[in-house]
Formats: sequence, C-alpha cells, structure tokens
Amino acid sequence: MDNKKLAELLFPDVVNTPEYYEEKYPYRKLPSKAQVTRMAPSPTGFIHLGNLYSALADERIAHKKGGVFYLRIEDTDAKRKVEGAVETIINVLKYFDIEFDEGAGCEDGENNYGPYFQRQRVEIYHTYVKNLVERGLAYPCFCEEDELAKVREQQDADKVLTGYYGKYATCRNLSYEEIEANIKAGKPYVVRLRSQGSPDKEITFKDSIKGEIKLPENIHDIVILKRDGVPTYHFAHAIDDHLMRTTLVIRGGEWLASVPIHYELFNLLGFKMPEYGHTAHLMKFDEETGGKRKLSKRKDPELSLDYYRKDGYHPYCMKVYLLTLLNSNFEEWHEKFPDKDINEFPFSVDKMSQSGALFDKDKLHNICKNELSKLSEQEIYDFLYDWANEHEPEKCKVWFADKEKMLGILRLYMGIGMKRRRKDFIYAKQIFEMIGYFFDLEGEAAQKDNFRLDDATVNDILDEYLATYNHEDDNSQWFDKLKAVADKLGFASDMKAFKAEPEKFKGNVSDIAEVVRIAVTGLANTPDLWSIVHIMGEEQMRDRINAAKK
Ligand code: GLU
Repeated sequence: MDNKKLAELLFPDVVNTPEYYEEKYPYRKLPSKAQVTRMAPSPTGFIHLGNLYSALADERIAHKKGGVFYLRIEDTDAKRKVEGAVETIINVLKYFDIEFDEGAGCEDGENNYGPYFQRQRVEIYHTYVKNLVERGLAYPCFCEEDELAKVREQQDADKVLTGYYGKYATCRNLSYEEIEANIKAGKPYVVRLRSQGSPDKEITFKDSIKGEIKLPENIHDIVILKRDGVPTYHFAHAIDDHLMRTTLVIRGGEWLASVPIHYELFNLLGFKMPEYGHTAHLMKFDEETGGKRKLSKRKDPELSLDYYRKDGYHPYCMKVYLLTLLNSNFEEWHEKFPDKDINEFPFSVDKMSQSGALFDKDKLHNICKNELSKLSEQEIYDFLYDWANEHEPEKCKVWFADKEKMLGILRLYMGIGMKRRRKDFIYAKQIFEMIGYFFDLEGEAAQKDNFRLDDATVNDILDEYLATYNHEDDNSQWFDKLKAVADKLGFASDMKAFKAEPEKFKGNVSDIAEVVRIAVTGLANTPDLWSIVHIMGEEQMRDRINAAKK
C-alpha cells in the first residue's frame, strides 16, 4: 500500500507538517530544573478534592523552581461539556489559592503554546495523524458498532482478550482501493493506531510517585480520531503534553492503566514522554465497616469542593491540610517554621504518598482550629464577611450590622489579648452557629442546652441576678454579685466550704453561673460570660434572660 497516497486521500486539507509545529512551539527557555506542569480537566464542571490534590502538587512543583503551571481544557468529548465549567474550574482553584501562569482563561498569561482548548487544536492533531498514516502507523476503520459487538462476542466465546487488535482488526488489511471506495460511498470511519505492541512483552515505566512499574505492552489498535474528526483523549493529550513542552504530570491514579497506550503513542510519534506521577486514591475510614475505602462521589459529600466552600472552610486551612496529605514531611516543617510562608516549603515528588492518602476530617478540623487561631480578628472578620455575603446574604446584614460588635465577638472567641489563643473556630458555618446567640435571628438564637435545675430555682436565680445587675460592674464585682445570689438561694459561694460539706448546699456558685450563662447564650459552655454580656449590651442580655425564664 502506498501510505503517502492514503494519507493524502484522508487528509487532503492538511498542509502543515509536524516540523512546522515543532518549530512553532519550541522548547521553553526556563531555569534548569524548572518543571512545566499542567492541569488538564474535562469541562464537566465537577472538580473534586482529588483534582485539587493533584493540582496543588503540579502547582507547587512548577512554582518551586521557576517553572510553568498551565491549564488545558480537554473538551474532546462534546457530550460531557457543561456551560460555564471553565470559569468554575478557574474560580474554584483560585479560591484555594492555586493560580495558573498560562492557559485557558488566563488573559494575562504568556499563552504562547495555545490554543489551550483541544477543540481548537484539531488542525494540529490532523497533521500528526496524517504523519502516522504516511508512516503506516495509522489506518481508517469503517467497522460499525454491531460488527464490533460481534467480534467481542466471538472473543468472549474464544476466551481471549476483547478489543480491536491483531487478527480481529479487520480494517488493518483493507487495500487502498477498498478504502477509497468506502470513502467515495460516504461511509463514516475512525482512524486507528496500528499498534506495534506484542502480548508477551512488557514496558518498564518509571512513575515519579510509585517508582518503577512494569505493565503489559499495549496491543490494541486504539481509536485516535473519532468519526467527527475530533481526536480521543489519549491521542490529543500526547500531542498537547509534547507541544506544550510539559515535563511532569501529576494526575489521578485512574490514568495509570492507560500508561501502556500513552507509552506507545509517545514512542510512535517520536516524542519524549514527560514524567508521569500517578497519585494514590484519597481514602477514608468507613464508619460502618471500620475499614479503609476510597472516597466516593456518591457516598461522600466531602469529596466535592463545593462542600468546603458552602460550609466556609478557609482556603488556607485546606491548603495546609492538602500539603500535609501530599508530603509526609510538611507537617513537621510547618511546626518548625510556623511563621514561614507555606509556599516556601521544599515540596518534593519523592515524599508523595504511594498508597492511598487517608482523608481524615478530625485532622482537617484540628488544622483549621490551629490555623484560624493564628489569624487576626480583622482577617477572620473579612473571611467571614465574604462567606456570609455569598452564602447567607440576608443573615449577613444582621451579623455585620455592627462592626465593633462582630470584632468584639471575634476577639473574645479567639482569645486575642489573652495569654493563650482559643481554638474554637473551625469553619464559617460552625462559627456562626457558635456565636448565633448574639443576634436576633430566628432559630439561631434558640436555647441549645437545657438547665439542670428545676424551673422554680432557675427563675429565682434569674430574678435575683437581674435585680442586682449593674452594667458598670467590672468582672470581679459582677462575680461577687453571682456569689451573693448563691448565698441568698442556699448555694455555696465558697468552693472550699462546698467541697467540705456539699450536702449542706443546693449547689455552688458555678451552678448559678451556668443558669445565667444558659439563659444569656443558650449554651452551657462559652468564653467569659462577663465579656459576652458586655459585647451584647444590657438590653439584649435582659431580653434574653426574660425570654429564658420558665
Ligand atoms: N482530561 C483528563 C481528565 O479529565 C485528564 C487526564 C490527564 O491529566 O492526563 O481527568
């Protein structure tokens, strides 16, 4: 067969050659050791924690040594495309402090290696497919779905590997005349790779994360161009990673099984394969079984990134958490240099987990508590305001009506100005639940903990408290008055006396304080009550106490 003639028949409009593109997209001039990495999502709009995990690794690796991190949109599958997905991807990653230097949606990026949407690169792909056809390494296949199904049935019956390969690849052997006749008759076709692989050979591939891996060679004549002339993911990504001069790709472990295909494609195209590192699956402890399992889209809402945005996890805490998962030595480094910018951490692919990284919400929450406790009240204020404004716009107006009040609450809850910072804050939604009693919002202000004393005693305590209350009292005067209420109602004001003869008393001054605390805040545990009352003001305090009476 005259392959040149066949290539001309299939791609009469392709005028460029691979050399043209090799020149158009030259090797990048970067500092030595700088890596070019990328994120290459399909525009389905769904991006999850696993994607963020890989993207952060790619971003850190690129930016550690002055490399490039770019965004390419793999939109070859039109069915999966969702409107606005690209903006979502960019915005979500930006929210988590991951920014691209180049690529789709990057107006101010360098963008010399574009276009970055695969559908806009069809001419490039055709050039390379044409070249493969010229070299006898690709051919048109006219098989219809039902014919392929028949072959599969036969293969099942013969108990051999299913797929289009070897003697089952009937279109491999079509003559030029047959192909020409089919095309003249308007028969649709795909273009397949003429695999050179052998079933009893293996490839040895060095995964940057998992180390050396042996996998069977690809033997399938995989489709590289679909009937509509758009390439498949496998083919397009090989061309793109090459022409965009990618040097390292960290991507989800689900792609590891495709490596033999990619290996063969890179080889036959004459490209040097970038380094690939396949991340381990994110795992979690299953509450029901107690065993480890993969995080699943269906069962685990925490896999979705929306989950963290909706509940208001601070993006910085998420980044610290992901770095903890990504690099085993990050936590120690961060503890040792708490004031260093986390971007200075010497991120390394070698330290990435080879087996499944364990997603642990308690750990995440601990990190949130720690990291949030390091922020100033203004930083927390701004973060909470932005979250509330986006997710709870109506309540936001009430929460932030009085800036000084909100700052006072934050100062108190974070222990700012105290000997040691408090670590009560985890995420925005939880924070507003915790401080909700300061605001007259239905439901939020409701009493959450119950009084432990009987109604009559509760009422007596609250009446006595209000009767002698003076808003000018300082903390110790105020506490003395609580003691006086205790004495008056048969509770011990002196803890020593109470411990010596508890049976003599109905309780002690801490029971009095608890009743007042629950009446004022609805909660049995809060920071300093005197301070709460002074942020809230006398009027609100009295209203709440009167409403709490039985
Ligand atoms: N487009 C693929 C995806 O949607 C990316 C695979 C890769 O990174 O090579 O996950």
